[in-house]
Amino acid sequence: MLTDLTITTAIDGLRRRDFSASELVSAHIGAAEALNPRLNAYITITSESAGAAARSADEALAKGDAPLLTGIPLGIKDLFCTAGIRTTAASRILSDFVPPYESTVTQKLLHAGGVFLGKTNLDEFAMGSGNLTSFFGTVESPWHRTGDATPLVPGGSSGGSAAAVAAHIAMGATGTDTGGSIRQPAAYCGIVGLKPTYGRCSRWGTIGFASSLDQAGPMTRSVEDAAIMLGAMAGFDPRDSTSSEQPVPDFRAAVNRSVKGLRVGIPKEYRSEGLSEEMQAVWEKGIQWLKDAGCEVSDVSLPHTEYGLATYYIIAPAECSSNLARYDGVRFGLRVPGDSLDEMYEKTRHDGFGEEVRRRILMGTYVLSAGYYDAYYLKAQKIRTLICRDFINAFEEVDVLLTPTAPTTAFGINEKPDDPVQMYLNDIFTVPASMAGVPAMSVPAALNAEGLPLGLQLIGRHFDEETLIAAGSVLEKAAGFTARPDIHAGVAA
Ligand code: GLN
Repeated sequence: MLTDLTITTAIDGLRRRDFSASELVSAHIGAAEALNPRLNAYITITSESAGAAARSADEALAKGDAPLLTGIPLGIKDLFCTAGIRTTAASRILSDFVPPYESTVTQKLLHAGGVFLGKTNLDEFAMGSGNLTSFFGTVESPWHRTGDATPLVPGGSSGGSAAAVAAHIAMGATGTDTGGSIRQPAAYCGIVGLKPTYGRCSRWGTIGFASSLDQAGPMTRSVEDAAIMLGAMAGFDPRDSTSSEQPVPDFRAAVNRSVKGLRVGIPKEYRSEGLSEEMQAVWEKGIQWLKDAGCEVSDVSLPHTEYGLATYYIIAPAECSSNLARYDGVRFGLRVPGDSLDEMYEKTRHDGFGEEVRRRILMGTYVLSAGYYDAYYLKAQKIRTLICRDFINAFEEVDVLLTPTAPTTAFGINEKPDDPVQMYLNDIFTVPASMAGVPAMSVPAALNAEGLPLGLQLIGRHFDEETLIAAGSVLEKAAGFTARPDIHAGVAA
């Protein structure tokens, strides 16, 4: 089936004329339309424009000079502005927003020939770990525990992208990661998710959550696919002041790079109590796989790890409170009229934002307020510097770090903890790399006893995604992870 292909194999198949881009895209659109009522992975499916784009792709392929991603069907997280296509951030406040412009990352993917199938669901404004806060409803994971129909979360916030890629209703998808939103859903859904170095992909036209942390990246079914997509998404953009001028290397070439002699660090602080025995065992296996490939493994220390979450949940809400101030009913999206200007603001923001977004705006406003700024925000910024230094020091001794991606497997949609802090613990292993701005990738490593995917995380030096790709390929080959979700398992007979 055409939906079985990876980006890598489809690129070759299209050029051999084994099938056309129109056939490839319509197979994916058909599958997406059939499964979406159940998974809710897409907020918007753009069948018509995808069909037209596929026809242009076939013309370009016929001419023989088509760019690499020509005709490849992709899902786009609904946080990237897409010209003329509704972009919602999964929020009521933007539920009717049609941007007049294209984000840099999606523009680059279009330029590389990618065909957009639609906009994928997410936690509202990318705030969450389970895709439970979307105004457009929860996303259901295509995975189930063996013999158990309990609906599970796909992870978050890029849960729609992860579910779509895992269910083969997108060949690859974009995600954004502020504190783990690419890596954790990738781990929960058994796919590859790569958060590049902060500044590697432009933020321009991506709806902002916490601007000093937000980073776009690929979510795919293989490491090579991730390398290919990242190559198309990355690069300097004068419209993003924090975009890096570092040249974009040939990420794909790193797939076959030897890891002999590569020094791998195991951060001892990640051996925390919340880690399941199964995750611990898979981590040990990962260490062995890298040793077998010739890596030298040693323990390292990242002493400020324990402050990562607390620091993140001050900095991210602080930046979100400032970023989301623009949604005031005047310039963008929803407006709920009131008797005065202030009342209009209040009603619009009350009705437009969901509970979690309002909680974060309140926390952020509080930690930035006069009197608390020094005690919370400034202190958090100082600790962020220490966390960043931990990584820089560790990377004097080793070239890459290996850790679990998340402490557990996916949880049930109805098993969600009432306590938001419990939910925040999902990010314990992903947040530190975000705080330091270093690149990190989740690779599917195994299924647990219940039949759910577990992911391993690789963390690298700033702008050294290539080492992640090289080591990630080794893990991928050794793990031989070929399991696919049985999408029909959860359907009641
Ligand atoms: N789960 C984290 C949060 O809720 C991370 C979200 C993200 O990376 N966008 O903030």
